Amino acid sequence: FLYPAVCGNLFPGSELGHKYFCVNTSTGTPSTGLSATPCLTGPTAPAGTPRHPTSLGGSTGGGAAVPQPYSNPASEVPSPAEMEPDRPIGYGAFGVVWSVTDPRDGRKVALKKMPNVFQNLVSCKRVFRELRMLCFFKHDNVLSALDILQPPQIDCFEEIYVITELMQSDLHKVIVSPQPLTTDHIKVFLYQILRGLKYLHSAGILHRDIKPGNLLVNSNCLLKICDFGLARVEEPDPSRHMTQEVVTQYYRAPEVLMGSRHYGSAIDVWSVGCIFAELLGRRILFQAQSPIQQLDLITDLLGTPPLSAMASACEGARAHILRGPHKPPSLSVLYMLSDAATHEAVHLLCRMLVFDPAKRISGSDALSHPYLDEGRLRYHTCMCQCCYSVPSGRVYTRDFEPPAERPFSHSYENSLLSVWQGKELIHRFITEHQQGKRVPLCINPQSAAFKTFIR
Ligand SMILES: [Zn+2]
Repeated sequence: FLYPAVCGNLFPGSELGHKYFCVNTSTGTPSTGLSATPCLTGPTAPAGTPRHPTSLGGSTGGGAAVPQPYSNPASEVPSPAEMEPDRPIGYGAFGVVWSVTDPRDGRKVALKKMPNVFQNLVSCKRVFRELRMLCFFKHDNVLSALDILQPPQIDCFEEIYVITELMQSDLHKVIVSPQPLTTDHIKVFLYQILRGLKYLHSAGILHRDIKPGNLLVNSNCLLKICDFGLARVEEPDPSRHMTQEVVTQYYRAPEVLMGSRHYGSAIDVWSVGCIFAELLGRRILFQAQSPIQQLDLITDLLGTPPLSAMASACEGARAHILRGPHKPPSLSVLYMLSDAATHEAVHLLCRMLVFDPAKRISGSDALSHPYLDEGRLRYHTCMCQCCYSVPSGRVYTRDFEPPAERPFSHSYENSLLSVWQGKELIHRFITEHQQGKRVPLCINPQSAAFKTFIR
């Protein structure tokens, strides 16, 4: 996949409000040599973050514990990636993401364009929800908004640009890379996924599209859940129907595959279970061509579910299961995923991959499983922001896996009745969000870099 190589920079404007998305002359002319390594390298970790926290001896020993595609040499010489000009880095469920330089501090950040915001009321509500979520999140394992670009006058307001922290890779790229993934990696990744998920669920938010590509990772193995384009607030009323167009098929929970009209946070835990198995085996656990085959692969492993586990299933899906042969469970094959599939690992995996969502372990309870003790220790010994070191040792935080301070509120959505009203509301939200903060940034639509971005 070839990306256009562009030298671009965001510049804070003068007092007159002229701000530019300009060609950065300091890095010279656009280079085409960047296209070969679009995502595997990147800037160094933020100052103060240990570079190789997972290289704490252990079975792997030394710095080799960090998967190399996204690790930087431990030197003070800037890596080529740090001098890279701005470039596109990914395409989420909704929107394009670019790597750009924040001119206020020279930091590389991710710039996401949320497109077609005001096309209709549904997209308006969806984008506003995602925007509010990104501004609501305050958790190290959940991607949040660092800033929002200053919107133009409301009459010209068509697009929203959000700045987030730039991460160097994602778990999908790590899994398909040839780099070794040790037990230490798997434990610290899984710990962070569940830590972030506990926070989201405690805020009443279902992510609904947990997959390796939506789990961003840095060279120091820090992990952040991203892409809230499909996220929504948990629906407490079981009579309210919820869409089934969620979750990439391989990670889709059986209750969604079986047409359940109502589901909860357990769908995200199922996805994490699939990812856990994928980390162990380095291949997709249930890789089916269709939703029906997806369900068949699941019952091949778990066995035919009891009727009680299919209570919320639609009639057709239940009939499909009952029509087929009775399958015994074959969970012992999970031990063959890899040498890292120890008894403890398989025990936790089997608690996540439970057909009946009511009996599946919660994200919060999964964190208490002994398999994650080492991941927790590693994370809080040298990766987290919540604990710190003093000469006499490490001072640990009181709550290793904090919940959200309050639930995410979405009551405003019901009062949103028109696109124009939504536009006003979002415009006001962004303006208020920026008040008292740093010099606002915006885009010069005339600049060459911006035109490439739009294209
Ligand atoms: Zn900590």
